[in-house]
Amino acid sequence: MNKADSERMAGILEDMGFEWTEDPNQADVILYNTCTIRDNAEQKVYSYLGRQAKRKHEQPDLTLIVAGCVAQQEGEALLRRVPELDLVMGPQHANRLKDLLESVFEGNQVVATEEVHIFEDITQPRRDSQVTAWVNIIYGCNERCTYCVVPNVRGVEQSRTPESIRAEIEQLGKQGYKEITLLGQNIDAYGRDLPGSTPEGRHLHTLTDLLYYVHDVPGIERIRFATSHPRYFTERLIKACAELPKVCEHFHIPFQSGDNELLKAMSRGYTHEKYRRIIDTIRRYMPDASISADAIVGFPGETEAQFENTLKLVEDIGFDLLNTAAYSPRPGTPAALWDHQLSEEVKSDRLQRLNHLVNIKAAERSQRYLGRTEKVLVEDQNSKDKTQVMGRTGGNRLTFFTGDIHQLKGQIVEVKITEVRAFSLTGEAVEVRQPVTV
Ligand code: SAH
Ligand code: SF4
Repeated sequence: MNKADSERMAGILEDMGFEWTEDPNQADVILYNTCTIRDNAEQKVYSYLGRQAKRKHEQPDLTLIVAGCVAQQEGEALLRRVPELDLVMGPQHANRLKDLLESVFEGNQVVATEEVHIFEDITQPRRDSQVTAWVNIIYGCNERCTYCVVPNVRGVEQSRTPESIRAEIEQLGKQGYKEITLLGQNIDAYGRDLPGSTPEGRHLHTLTDLLYYVHDVPGIERIRFATSHPRYFTERLIKACAELPKVCEHFHIPFQSGDNELLKAMSRGYTHEKYRRIIDTIRRYMPDASISADAIVGFPGETEAQFENTLKLVEDIGFDLLNTAAYSPRPGTPAALWDHQLSEEVKSDRLQRLNHLVNIKAAERSQRYLGRTEKVLVEDQNSKDKTQVMGRTGGNRLTFFTGDIHQLKGQIVEVKITEVRAFSLTGEAVEVRQPVTV
């Protein structure tokens, strides 16, 4: 989500005539797009900012911007902490960067953190990739997971209309993009804030309907989406994914904990049994589907036995990938105020144990690829070996094989997998033989 916001803001800056530089010390305008999901993400920005604030004393025309979730969380307090800042802007204001900067250039110090209706983006994002692109479909989150700062900083749910989403995807198709990832904090909430309902009382616009609606956009060959919420995940969506050939068989469905009491304390609104049923249903329709998720260890009050329930879930499901994190108390969230916080030692010990298991299970999952031929969408050169290109399988496994990026970029290549690791694969392109007429 932050990457998508960064690309849109970079597009606006480019549109205003700015040029990109790799070296921050060469820049006249520096924009930090920040994350506050955990404390270590937040602390990073202060260390970067300190250095540039110093530079501003020698170069007073340097413009310093903090955008994103730390900006939203701290607001004016950030200006008191770093008075050298010119602009503090929350994530909902990303599309307004031009107006805000113009006000800065008129001599104002600007804070833009009030809740706003997010305007449709009229400028072009400066996308990092020429092959894959993010497409926001819903901003914000109406959930109240007790550990999570996102609703405080990204505001309430705001869905884009299916028409504007399709228009953006059509343009991407024309520009040569091959893969899109539809984005939302809770993507299953898509459409519930839009008007209209079906005769059965279902919202007229759901993620499932949107997938059918955008599926035939010319040029786009792969469609992904994230992040799914187990509370709202439907069999109807699973069916659509099985039915629609462009939708990749990869599901990112965070479970956070394998323990029902903890799930309740987190206000997640499902049990581990329900989560298992979802995965079973996915595998019934698509036996080879990749499953990834997020999990938190060391939530306040988590006992050893409760943590073991998380290990058990990971053991049983066998994730292709799991993003793990030690619980980090966040300002303005309920769980941060609870008594029974765990020590850093306990949290990091559990994190290590969980990661160890994740590696073992992911390596097991990778085995199924060995000897198989997979369709790989080539994105880039392998930065560690320039004779190789890198891309992803439909299931989102990173795959490397020998090839020339100038020829292969943006192509879907059949690759025979010869080597597997926990989170990546190596293979050889299968020769496409031209039939000869005799
Ligand atoms: N909207 C998505 C992702 C939200 S943030 C969802 O609902 O799953 C991404 C991940 O960060 C979360 O899934 C969670 O695992 C982790 N996370 C969020 N708040 C956290 C916190 N306070 N401490 C540790 N991890 C956290
Ligand atoms: Fe945070 Fe929960 Fe919303 Fe995800 S669903 S962004 S974890 S509040």
